[in-house]
Amino acid sequence: MASGQPSIPTHMKAQLLEAYNTPYALKEIPVPALTSPNDLLIRLDAAGYCHTDAVIAEGEWANVPRQFPHISGHEIAGTIVRKASPSSTAADELPIGTRVASPGRGYNPCGECFECRDPGNDYEGYSFFCPRSVSNGSSKHGGFAEYVVVDARQVVPLPDGLSAVDAAPLMCAGVTIYSALKRCNLSPGQRVGIIGCGGGLGHLGLQFAEAMGLRVTGVDAAPGALELAKSLGTKAHIVDARATPAEDLVRHIGKEDGKTDRADFGLDAVLILPDTQKSFDYGTTLLRNHGLCIVVSFLERGFQVSASDLVFRDLTIRGTMLGTHETLHETVEFAAKHNIKSVKQTFALNKLGDLVDRYRAGGGGKLVLDMSL
Ligand SMILES: [Zn+2]
Ligand SMILES: [Zn+2]
Repeated sequence: MASGQPSIPTHMKAQLLEAYNTPYALKEIPVPALTSPNDLLIRLDAAGYCHTDAVIAEGEWANVPRQFPHISGHEIAGTIVRKASPSSTAADELPIGTRVASPGRGYNPCGECFECRDPGNDYEGYSFFCPRSVSNGSSKHGGFAEYVVVDARQVVPLPDGLSAVDAAPLMCAGVTIYSALKRCNLSPGQRVGIIGCGGGLGHLGLQFAEAMGLRVTGVDAAPGALELAKSLGTKAHIVDARATPAEDLVRHIGKEDGKTDRADFGLDAVLILPDTQKSFDYGTTLLRNHGLCIVVSFLERGFQVSASDLVFRDLTIRGTMLGTHETLHETVEFAAKHNIKSVKQTFALNKLGDLVDRYRAGGGGKLVLDMSL
C-alpha cells in the first residue's frame, strides 16, 4: 500500500438482503475489490433509504438482474479510500480522502451507445441512462455497508458545508425533485403544485421550489406528512387533500390571482409524487389550461388520463427520472447555497431493521443510515 493511504480491513459489515421479503441481515463479508480503472472504494459515511429500496426488498423489481445476497442503498455519501491501479482520468481528478456522494445509476456506462454518445443528453461519453450501465443498490451492491465501490464518473465531490447525512438524500430524492422542478421550466412568480409534499421528495421539493422563486402549493393527505411540510417554515400554501377538494382549491387560487375564467384558474405546473390515481386526478384538476403535469411516481398499472383534459384543456403530461450528471452537480450546489436539507431521522448501520419499521409507519421526511452513530 502506498504511504498515506488509509488502512482498509479485509472484511466489512454489510446489511444483506438474502431473499425477497426477508429482513436485512447484518453480516461480515469481504470488502469489495476494484475491477475497473474508474472504480473508487468509498468508506461509507451515510446512506439514505428510498422507496425503491422497499420495492426491491418486496421483490417487485425482480426482473432486474440481481445476485443474492444483495446490498441495497443508492443514496450514498462517503470518503474515497482506494483507487484502482491504473486509474482512469476521472478517478485521477479525485484524490484519496475526497468526500463524495453517488447516486445509484451510471456505474460503468459503456461510452458507446446512443445515450452515452448524445451530448444533449448528458456529459459526452457517458450517461446515467446508458442501458448497459449498472446501478448501485439494484443491479450491483449498494451503500448499506461499511464500504462500497462506485464509478468516478457518477460521483459528485461534496462542498465543505454539506454533511454526508445531508448529501446522501440528494442522490435520489433530491436530484429527482430538483430535476422535475427544472423540467417545469417556470419563471419566478409562477405557480407550481407538489402533490405528496410531505414525503421524502416532496418536502425537499417545497424548499427547492421556494428557493427558485416559485409560488408553491403543497398537497398531502397523511397527517404526519402534512405536519412535516408545515414545519419547514416555507411560504408554501399547504393543503390537506382530505379536507379540501381540488375544485375548491383551484377556485381559491383563481380568486387569489384575480381571475374570473375557470379555464384560466390554477397552477402552471404540478408534480405528482404519490403512486395513486387520486393524487394524479387531484393534481391535474389544479392546473390551468395549457398546464404541465410532471409524473414522478410510477403506478404499476399506470395512471388513467382524461382524454378531454389533453384535448380541451391542452394539458401536457410528461415523466421524469433522476436527472443528468450535470443536474446532479447543480442539485448539490443549489442545496448547499440555499441551505436546503431534508428533515431526517438517522440510524446506525446495525439498526437498519428499525429504520425499515419506521419507514413502514410513515410520517414523512427521510430516513438515513449515519455511520458516525
Ligand atoms: Zn431512490
Ligand atoms: Zn452507454
